[in-house]
Amino acid sequence: MSETNFNTKTVHFQTKEPSRNASKAKPIYQTSAFVFTDLDDMESFYEGEKEYLYSRYSNPNTDDLGKGIALLEDAEDGVATSSGMSAILAGILAVANQGDHIIASDDLYGGTYQLFAQELLNFGIDTSFVSFEKIENVKNAITEKTVLIYTESVTNPLLRVENLEQVINLAKEASIKTMIDNTFATPYLLQPTKIGADLVVHSATKYIGGHSDVTAGVLVGTQELIAIAKSKVITLGCNLSPFEAWLACRGLKTLSVRMERQSQNAQALADALSTHSGVARVYYPKFVSEKGNGAMVSIDLAENVNVETFFASLGWVKIAPTLAGVETTVSYPLRTSHRTIPEKLRSELGIGKQLVRISVGIEDEKDIIKAFTDAIEKA
Ligand SMILES: *Cc1c(COP(=O)(O)O)cnc(C)c1O
Repeated sequence: MSETNFNTKTVHFQTKEPSRNASKAKPIYQTSAFVFTDLDDMESFYEGEKEYLYSRYSNPNTDDLGKGIALLEDAEDGVATSSGMSAILAGILAVANQGDHIIASDDLYGGTYQLFAQELLNFGIDTSFVSFEKIENVKNAITEKTVLIYTESVTNPLLRVENLEQVINLAKEASIKTMIDNTFATPYLLQPTKIGADLVVHSATKYIGGHSDVTAGVLVGTQELIAIAKSKVITLGCNLSPFEAWLACRGLKTLSVRMERQSQNAQALADALSTHSGVARVYYPKFVSEKGNGAMVSIDLAENVNVETFFASLGWVKIAPTLAGVETTVSYPLRTSHRTIPEKLRSELGIGKQLVRISVGIEDEKDIIKAFTDAIEKA
């Protein structure tokens, strides 16, 4: 470099990739592309000897996240994407084409509902929404065009636990693929691929990342379907940035300890609120897994509790339209995640004006309980 001039030096000052011992933390490959020494070297990418060419195709940090979740879910392969929504889209497009039909649960994350009800419909993919509480409803909705059954393992915000085995078995008999949104349960509690789900999707924005500092998604499943999904991610540009992938991977390392504490705290809060006169109903799963029942608790405040005053009286508990961080937060589904769900469907589902969704964090159990009982008493 010393023989070059200033402008060239400004661009090429960095030392070569180190051949010294590996760093303890994974480096961030914050690069849009990878370089080659000669044309034969570049050819080696196309022959499958070199892994990386261009970060929209793949990158060591995004691969870490996709393959890491695949490992935890016991799936053959995985791909990381720019958000939970793009992971869902990539998964659907790996299975469904124009003219195909999908059966989805009527109790879904608002954005997913909108994807099915509006965007996919525009592409000629039609979705029937049915209640998965009775397997008969799912069975009766199957047509010869049905290619996919889609549901969440633990639903949002009413925290119903789906009988996934029943759904997956029904789909297998009819040669239909299944895709499960496992965001609320996380692979710590449930691994739907182990019981035969073809695709499992996560909003890694939630428990995988765990610190509310990254928006990311992951799709895992069979080699065959993930290969198709990867090509969709590449062409549609749904790829995740290396830094976001790195952050999500850092969060993932503590998934077990976070979920353990958060589930314990959630169980304690659900128990405490279930006997409180200011709470009409507590929604908390009876059984998700031996390791716990998750960290989300929803409640219907009693009719005489003023919702506005309740939200304004929560002290250190922040109102946030997301979930799963290490901090306890609350949200109001009616005016956030479920705003776009038609009024009629919303009331049928039981998402009313007294419904509060609580994402329980890692704080001290007694402080969490006190924050909520104080707010209810004030309201
Ligand atoms: C948040 C969420 C999504 C969407 O994920 P983004 O990362 O916000 O795109 C999908 N499904 C569930 C259950 C979610 O909670």
